[in-house]
Amino acid sequence: MKTISIIDAKNHVDEEVKIGVWLTNKRSSGKIAFLQLRDGSAFFQGVVVKSNVSEETFEMAKELHQESSLYVVGEIHEDKRSPFGYEIEVKSLELVGESQDYPITPKEHGTEFLMDHRHLWLRSTKPYAVMQIRNEIIRATYEFFNKEGFIKIDAPILTGSAPEGTTELFHTKYFDKDAYLSQSGQLYEEAGAMAFGKVFSFGPTFRAEKSKTRRHLIEFWMIEPEMAFMHQEQSLEVQEQYIAFLVQSVLDNCDYALDILERDKEVLKSYTKTPFPKISYDEAVELLQNSGEFPDTKWGDDFGSPEETYLAEHFSMPVFVLNYPKAIKPFYMKPHPTREDVVICADLLAPEGYGEIIGGSERETDLDNLTAQIKKAGLNEKDYEWYLDLRRYGSVPHSGFGLGLERATTWITGEEHIREAIPFPRLLNRIYP
Ligand code: ATP
Ligand code: MG
Ligand code: MG
Ligand code: MG
Repeated sequence: MKTISIIDAKNHVDEEVKIGVWLTNKRSSGKIAFLQLRDGSAFFQGVVVKSNVSEETFEMAKELHQESSLYVVGEIHEDKRSPFGYEIEVKSLELVGESQDYPITPKEHGTEFLMDHRHLWLRSTKPYAVMQIRNEIIRATYEFFNKEGFIKIDAPILTGSAPEGTTELFHTKYFDKDAYLSQSGQLYEEAGAMAFGKVFSFGPTFRAEKSKTRRHLIEFWMIEPEMAFMHQEQSLEVQEQYIAFLVQSVLDNCDYALDILERDKEVLKSYTKTPFPKISYDEAVELLQNSGEFPDTKWGDDFGSPEETYLAEHFSMPVFVLNYPKAIKPFYMKPHPTREDVVICADLLAPEGYGEIIGGSERETDLDNLTAQIKKAGLNEKDYEWYLDLRRYGSVPHSGFGLGLERATTWITGEEHIREAIPFPRLLNRIYP
């Protein structure tokens, strides 16, 4: 008899198999017990018919507590009524680990309670589905960048200097020196691009964001591609192809998870159509001013969540907003060739209220301009000597971008809050569990 994962059920129909499971719920009558089970790969039902099993097995089925772990032996059958599509007709049960009174019952709980029990809550259907999709986005990311000829160059997590100001930095000690947790791997990816052409990093990112929004985590994961000999227009093409590829991969490989989340697949499908609409920052300001909803918007403002939501809703598609004011963007972005006041950059805003999922730009290539920008930003030139070397020795046009993994996951899964998109969220008031 084979031990299987239930996700492979379709290959074992009418066969007798053994599966290691946890009990999520049950109901029983005098003659039959329905066990709601999960084995980590999927959720399914076990049917225990009194007349087909030993008295001991039937008694056990009736007595089991929620989250007891057990081995079930039985025959796989199709079950058209369940979202998963298969069930097991139980022949015997073997208890592995008894469960005490499980704190998360099938009844409703508040968010704080669930987050306090995140280590257990992960076992429920919704976190299961979101984590499956998050995993698919990670898998598809590697596939996409590998097939496009990128190599993964890991940026350090501990850095000796602050890339973009200091307010959102986590400070720590590095023996007798100061160190900071990475806010972005970008500058290192630029070095990688000069060495290997097309590179990406995928690592943890830390920002001491003091704001409580549905979109900000303190610790999140970022994918940061950087491409040598590449101008912004080509980078935008890579970005839209990457996003379309992620959405298509989730549609192709996460049908069951999307069903659990009741995510509209037609809507998702519409996001695979490229090119994405593009508007300039100037046009975005005008749109907002004329909308009636944001009469106070001024040229020069950075957009907040409501503005970003409005702009993407206007197109019902991910939309690029190009060329933001220089004053609100970091020092390394390349100034526009004909406009002093804006830089060559773009944010990609997701529809349905999810806001910025990508920020990217063409980078300043000129040594003198970059040095001046570093000074103007109030940064210590000495910390950036290595970065300036990239301009001293064969500087080339290059562009790159950063995608927040959990932003993308929240959007693609259709979840309300970014805390759902990471296994153990770090939030303003949460570092437990
Ligand atoms: P925002 O304007 O939403 O605060 P940002 O402009 O500060 O984002 P970038 O520095 O451009 O963010 O980082 C690149 C990407 O990382 C963003 O487009 C977003 O997808 C993601 N990101 C940024 N901050 C966070 C955060 N606190 N939590 C989760 N993801 C984030
Ligand atoms: Mg921010
Ligand atoms: Mg932003
Ligand atoms: Mg940004």
